[in-house]
Amino acid sequence: MKFCSTRGGSAGSTFEEAVSRGYAPDGGLYVPEQLPRLSLAELSLWQQLDFPSLQEEILKLFVGDELSAAELSEVVRGSYSCFSAPEIVPVVPLPGMTESTPGQDPPIFIAELFHGPTFCFKDLGLQPLVRLLARLAENRGSKRTFLVSTTGDTGPAAMRAVADAGSSRLRIVVFFPEGQISELQRRQMTTTMSAPDAKVQTARVASFEGGGDDMDLPLKRLGVDSDFAERHGLCGINSYNLGRPVCQMAHYFWSYFRAVDKLGAEMGTPIDIAVPSGALGNLAAGFMARQMGLPLRRLVAGVNSNDITHRTIESGEFHRSEHMEKTLSDAINIQVPYNMERVFYYLTDEDPALVKSWMTEMDTSGKLTLAPEWIERLQAIFGSCRVDDDAMCSAMRRALDEHGYLSDPHTAVGLAAAWAVYCSGKNAELSAPAAVVVLATASPCKFQASVTEAVGATRWAAYQAGPGFPQAARAAMAAQEQPLGRLIAQGSLQESHRAWETEVRLMLENAA
Ligand SMILES: *Cc1c(COP(=O)(O)O)cnc(C)c1O
Repeated sequence: MKFCSTRGGSAGSTFEEAVSRGYAPDGGLYVPEQLPRLSLAELSLWQQLDFPSLQEEILKLFVGDELSAAELSEVVRGSYSCFSAPEIVPVVPLPGMTESTPGQDPPIFIAELFHGPTFCFKDLGLQPLVRLLARLAENRGSKRTFLVSTTGDTGPAAMRAVADAGSSRLRIVVFFPEGQISELQRRQMTTTMSAPDAKVQTARVASFEGGGDDMDLPLKRLGVDSDFAERHGLCGINSYNLGRPVCQMAHYFWSYFRAVDKLGAEMGTPIDIAVPSGALGNLAAGFMARQMGLPLRRLVAGVNSNDITHRTIESGEFHRSEHMEKTLSDAINIQVPYNMERVFYYLTDEDPALVKSWMTEMDTSGKLTLAPEWIERLQAIFGSCRVDDDAMCSAMRRALDEHGYLSDPHTAVGLAAAWAVYCSGKNAELSAPAAVVVLATASPCKFQASVTEAVGATRWAAYQAGPGFPQAARAAMAAQEQPLGRLIAQGSLQESHRAWETEVRLMLENAA
């Protein structure tokens, strides 16, 4: 398979080129030149597979002959070796909601994407992607350096994936905004990093004194310094990297298959999926799976008060907001979701000229307003719901009170969106899907402060002391932390940006 940019450049790129670069050189995002299309008969065969085998079949289509069958199999098997659930992604009915009666709300299933080593769905994308990159780097005799800026979940999952891949060809440095991630998230990183006396520092963590995305610009500048980027093998692994949505398609296929199994329904039965959404890497994977023929009817994005995706779907206003709002679901605090570009690409039936003109307008003015025909097309595939902190908290309480299910704050955003879109009467004009699957993107164990805010300290304490709280999370809370690097604010933001860029340069040169 060959790959190209959503903006028309880089035609004929290999899988390795696409995933090793991150962004395409023209500023667009890599996509397959042609997405494979599956028949219902082929889907029925995939329905029989376990999760790793399903992932292997999907990846085969994209990786082609760039890795041998044995190499790909090794990558995939390793990726799930640290998952605590035997089925990798359990799909469970929301208790008390299994029966579907005509005229009633569709049943809700929850696909738990958080049984990986860092308790969030980022493990599902990053474990295979990092192992693929390690294998490709080994084969070529090259090195890769991942510079990752995180608002909390990506950093631990990326560090853990690098540690688990165990390749001397990989290095990672993670930056997080000081005081703005949870204690468990910090400890997951400071207990995974290299020992301070290690000869080569393969994994480092530094905090910076600034807001969530203040580190993006210095890292982007290092990435476009092609000499430097080349020398260190810099590679972005946030969800603009094609490998993320490609690896994340497996859980859409899987969730669909398990839902039709549980309903006793036929292959082809329409199912909807609700997704707590930030940068839209997860939702874009769902759209790509749908384009490949998976019978998903609608994809519903649940967002918090950073609601650009909701405004785009509701009224075509892809407008950057002035401020990032602090919320209790901070992994989805996003001002401009980079995967909207992939959504636009498939929405326009893969029209790179149109996508380029739209994204250029967005890049230069921070505003893109879609014409009514495009809003209509968007709404035929996507639903959306804005879930502020109050609504998120009441959804978390409702799930616990009525269904005995404790969710994390992001999953609660997804549940609130599903309830809002599918509750009886409100969408009478929409024919109901056979079921709705809500993607549960993290374990509640990662978000003590937000869960406590929603359901109270007593219920948090009961959860923390109970059997549902992961042992590995307890262990990370007790393990010895390595000292952190720290990037200190310098006068203006511009001055900080320059100073931090220099510091990161030195950090990499000295460790090389
Ligand atoms: C990253 C993340 C999301 C958002 O995923 P996107 O692909 O960025 O839309 C949702 N929930 C949790 C817990 C996350 O860590």
